[in-house]
Amino acid sequence: EKELLKQLKDKTATSKDGITVGAWANIGSPKDVAGVLRNGANGIGLYRTEFLFMANDRFPTEDEQFEAYKIVAESMKDENGKSYPVTIRTMDIGGDKSLPYMELPHEENPFLGWRALRICLDRPEILKTQFRALLRASAFGYIKIMLPMVISIEECRKSKALLEECKAELRAEGIKFDEDIQLGIMIETPATAFRAKWFAQEVDFFSIGTNDLTQYTLAVDRGNERISHLYDTYNPGVLAAIKAAIDGAHEGGISISMCGEFAGEARATALLFGMGLDAFSMSAISVAKVKKNIMAIDKASAEALVERVMSMSTTEDILAEIDKYNEELL
Ligand code: PEP
Ligand code: MG
Repeated sequence: EKELLKQLKDKTATSKDGITVGAWANIGSPKDVAGVLRNGANGIGLYRTEFLFMANDRFPTEDEQFEAYKIVAESMKDENGKSYPVTIRTMDIGGDKSLPYMELPHEENPFLGWRALRICLDRPEILKTQFRALLRASAFGYIKIMLPMVISIEECRKSKALLEECKAELRAEGIKFDEDIQLGIMIETPATAFRAKWFAQEVDFFSIGTNDLTQYTLAVDRGNERISHLYDTYNPGVLAAIKAAIDGAHEGGISISMCGEFAGEARATALLFGMGLDAFSMSAISVAKVKKNIMAIDKASAEALVERVMSMSTTEDILAEIDKYNEELL
């Protein structure tokens, strides 16, 4: 294991036929960056900022957020000082995550309720503070902004309008930021997965959040032990949603990564690569094994696997087909 990590650390995730995908990691705090670099990731595909919001008894100020984002952006560089992409997600509170200092109403179905971007658009001052901090930090590295839990084009447009307001404010204040900063969305709902081509006209990139996409496609609560056997990302309906998102992104001319747990699942690497995923973002400890898998396969055989899998109707058949491919090639 240690040996494998050493060998692969400075290698890119490049297939036998020369196609390179991003090997990125997910983080929850600036403290995680050291582990990301040690494990050979060449980007951060998801920085979950809600821990910054949960750590205190009040909202983090613009300056406190700025400092956290700046440290991550500054430390995510290669040995030549070139910045790696750092994808920072706006506050994803609600569902299973609460804020001690913010009264969230009691809800029958919190995962279907007032959470994430919905809260931010109803309380735009929260989102604007975070946008300003992100913009300011973008002067110190390669930051990309990502919105969670999107279901509509209107949400994208409202968010973009708020981002533009923040940019105008900073310009007026003479504060530097990356004028080309990208704004992307997570694909976590069927509403975005199956309309990806349309969302691609509105935003700069996608990242598939399979943890929520699985939950919302199957109507299976991701935290409910009682039905955990039904929580299955290999369900043909979930795979169809993932494939629709990837196809839609590329038809719309933008790139798409995956930052849900499924991206770090070695068993699924070939399938996702065959679907055309542009980057895999996972826990740092999974980076080496996913790289190793990519290096062992080629696009044509992975695409053929996808075609066979998408014609199957049960998880059992799908897994058998994937395992057969993996046994031969990995
Ligand atoms: C996801 O839903 O897949 C995701 C990456 O976001 P989180 O797990 O933080 O909800
Ligand atoms: Mg999610």
